[in-house]
Amino acid sequence: MNPEIERRRTFAIISHPDAGKTTLTEKFLLFGGQIQVAGAVKSNKIRKTATSDWMEIEKQRGISVSTSVMEFDYKDYKVNILDTPGHQDFAEDTFRTLTAVDSCIIVVDGAKGVETQTRKLMEVCRMRNTPVIIFVNKMDREGRDPFDLLDELEQELQIGVRPLSWPINQGVKFKGVYNIYENELNLFTPDKQRVTEKVSVDVNSGYLDECIGAQDAKQLRDDLELVAGVYPEFDVETYRAAEVAPVFFGSALNNFGVQELLDCFVKIAPSPRPTKAEERDVNPDEPKFSGFIFKITANIDPNHRSCIAFCKVCSGKFVRNQPYLHVRNGKTIRFSSPTQFMAQRKSTIDEAWAGDIVGLPDNGVFKIGDTLTEGEKIHFRGLPSFSPELFKYIENDDPMKAKQLEKGINQLMDEGVAQLFVNQFNGRKIIGTVGQLQFEVIQYRLENEYNAKCRWEPVHLYKACWIESGDEAELENFKKRKYQYMAKDREGRDVFLADSGYVLQMAQEDFKNIKFHFTSEF
Ligand code: GDP
Repeated sequence: MNPEIERRRTFAIISHPDAGKTTLTEKFLLFGGQIQVAGAVKSNKIRKTATSDWMEIEKQRGISVSTSVMEFDYKDYKVNILDTPGHQDFAEDTFRTLTAVDSCIIVVDGAKGVETQTRKLMEVCRMRNTPVIIFVNKMDREGRDPFDLLDELEQELQIGVRPLSWPINQGVKFKGVYNIYENELNLFTPDKQRVTEKVSVDVNSGYLDECIGAQDAKQLRDDLELVAGVYPEFDVETYRAAEVAPVFFGSALNNFGVQELLDCFVKIAPSPRPTKAEERDVNPDEPKFSGFIFKITANIDPNHRSCIAFCKVCSGKFVRNQPYLHVRNGKTIRFSSPTQFMAQRKSTIDEAWAGDIVGLPDNGVFKIGDTLTEGEKIHFRGLPSFSPELFKYIENDDPMKAKQLEKGINQLMDEGVAQLFVNQFNGRKIIGTVGQLQFEVIQYRLENEYNAKCRWEPVHLYKACWIESGDEAELENFKKRKYQYMAKDREGRDVFLADSGYVLQMAQEDFKNIKFHFTSEF
């Protein structure tokens, strides 16, 4: 493989809010020399607010596109970290970001174990066969027994685990981690700012007893023996095949266990992997450029009303000012100011390789999932839309602005803010989202960016599911029977709007030849 591509590591750090994602990201940037002191990276996390006030959240989030991708060189590697919002109302945003990564690091709070959001994110990783490494954080706090935690990770995340580092005691007695991968001991000297020193020590030597005391030394030896007995030898191929997740213990805040994680990560994490297009698999090593848009960020600051489309380079080399084919609309586009991102700034770039993320200024020509190539008509498959969880009718609140509203809704849907369904019975538009916040986001943005006013009206729905059947007659019969609950999505596909779990279950039982799908890709 081209060495430029081979050395790239494009990944996301994901976690349930508060597990320590921001802290860990920051420590990585510290090691990468992107920032000099901890505390410099602004969290895109949303602090818990009593109200779900969109403006307040926006202020906190700072809609800062510059933290969407952070890239730095570490040793011989080029590391691209993709940032994901922690707030669950923006889960779709996170899911889409996961389509652009080659691997993930999952941060778990050692005291809390696996939490809801961790579980959901892991589901997406599993769907896409994304290799994951787990970092069990906050070992400086009283937590749970590491073996229990490993069992929980295995069960809850449905993946084999293999510890590659091991904590020596925890909480106030936390003494450090033994690096199983490198056979080294890293003693704990709490230091929030600098990198700590490592000690090389044979676990069976008396020196270990000197370092950590006889009791902890015995415990460590017993634990390591058990680890070796219970877990199979670490095999990097099972990790890359997404069958086994290596587990590291540490404390991001105290910069402990972090370098072990990063050092091992760059060595074992996959370099850019082939990307599936509808027509064929695209290899990163192919000479010609191709890429897809996985995220569009609008800048809500009225003084800088611009969007940035984030393009993942899937193959070859992206070059500034080259003509590229926008496959969906058949037009050729040149980009004169593509950007790349570093901790707190972005800069114009001349080229980018497979694995990199390029920011493209967008004035409404892109939709999530759009493909760019040097001319070949291929279509990358993005992440399917998930069946939304909340539904509302969207109504025009200013009759003079119907056109603006229509345009605004269409563009926001292109950006992937929410999903639109049109009820075939009454022609009314229904917006489906994964979180309450998105309704506020839509209303706010329609008003501020499109000068249109919308109003929400309740609609009582339980689930929207895409239906299909090889049995045309049965499908027609179903649509007739359920005509009040049939809708079309933006691609014109049939969607059944079930108003209760019971109704859905009955429908599934009564119409055995119809398949009910809960994601839009099948
Ligand atoms: P995120 O929501 O996952 O990005 O979490 P943050 O990185 O913002 O961390 C949440 C809180 O946990 C912050 O108050 C951190 O200071 C704290 N925290 C992070 N890592 C550690 C750790 O290793 N030990 C302890 N005790 N606290 C930590």
